[in-house]
Amino acid sequence: MTLLDGKLLSENIQLELAAETEQIKQTGGKVPHLAALLVGENPASQVYVESKIRACKKAGFESTLIRKSADTTEAEVLEIVHTLNENPDIDGFIVQLPLPRHIDEANVILAIDPRKDVDGFHPVNFGRMAQGLPAFLPATPLGILEILRRYNIDTSGKHCVVLGRSNIVGTPISILLSRKNYPGDCTVTLTHSRTQDIAAEVRRADIVIAAIGIPEFVKGDWIKEGAVVIDVGINRIADPTRKSGTRLVGDVDFESAAPRCSHITPVPGGVGLMTVAALLMNTLKARMLKG
Ligand code: NAD
Repeated sequence: MTLLDGKLLSENIQLELAAETEQIKQTGGKVPHLAALLVGENPASQVYVESKIRACKKAGFESTLIRKSADTTEAEVLEIVHTLNENPDIDGFIVQLPLPRHIDEANVILAIDPRKDVDGFHPVNFGRMAQGLPAFLPATPLGILEILRRYNIDTSGKHCVVLGRSNIVGTPISILLSRKNYPGDCTVTLTHSRTQDIAAEVRRADIVIAAIGIPEFVKGDWIKEGAVVIDVGINRIADPTRKSGTRLVGDVDFESAAPRCSHITPVPGGVGLMTVAALLMNTLKARMLKG
């Protein structure tokens, strides 16, 4: 079994991005600049945003974090989005999700200029992705593709079972892996909360991508011998043996699944770090597209 080491890969990507940024600087260019808008005090969101800002620093990017209180109105959020769209100094920006309940996420995403949409959530980027046109790919699926690419995992003709149909992970990765490309050319089954027998679907999978948000949902005996398992889930569960009283686990029961896999991502240390690396890749791309 090979561990798909998101920490190592993301550090490599950060070094590559830092080298490209240095090159831009040397030739008198402007380094990429990522902005992030965080509304409210969701603890997980704060951790995610801060790790994105830290990663920018490591890659030599400029970064701006805009924090707003949970009672910020939708109109105020839209106003900030418009300001970021217009600011020539910002190459790309993200609005950290989830937003407080009184704000319509779809409205906010629609307001983002697709040329600055480095999270790849805008329907223009989603549509272009679905048609195989140049686009900002959503960060988590792009991170998954980088894992498959950098570990030279054969995907052509493989049966891939995706668990979860969210707009940010399950649905886009199912489209990307079914497209004529590498990584891709898979036969994809997209499963979700209404699927009748998920275990039976997973048992047929050469590649499993789990993104449902239920701790250790996928059991080891569902995994076909030699399958590749990509665990997107990040779930905090109680663990009295830890000082913090909690620990992070994925959507896959790692202990029972790992011995059956050819490759598996750990949680933490897998897809999460690659999502941040992919966001930075998109930001550099946005910078280069501006010329
Ligand atoms: P979501 O909560 O938006 O959607 C969950 C999906 O799972 C839905 O499509 C639903 O149909 C499906 N589902 C729910 N219960 C199910 C069940 N019992 N059986 C089968 N399918 C079921 O999900 P999301 O935003 O894609 O997040 C999924 C997980 O991935 C979460 O743990 C989240 O924290 C994690 N996540 C991680 C990263 C990362 O960078 N690693 C990025 C995004 C999300």
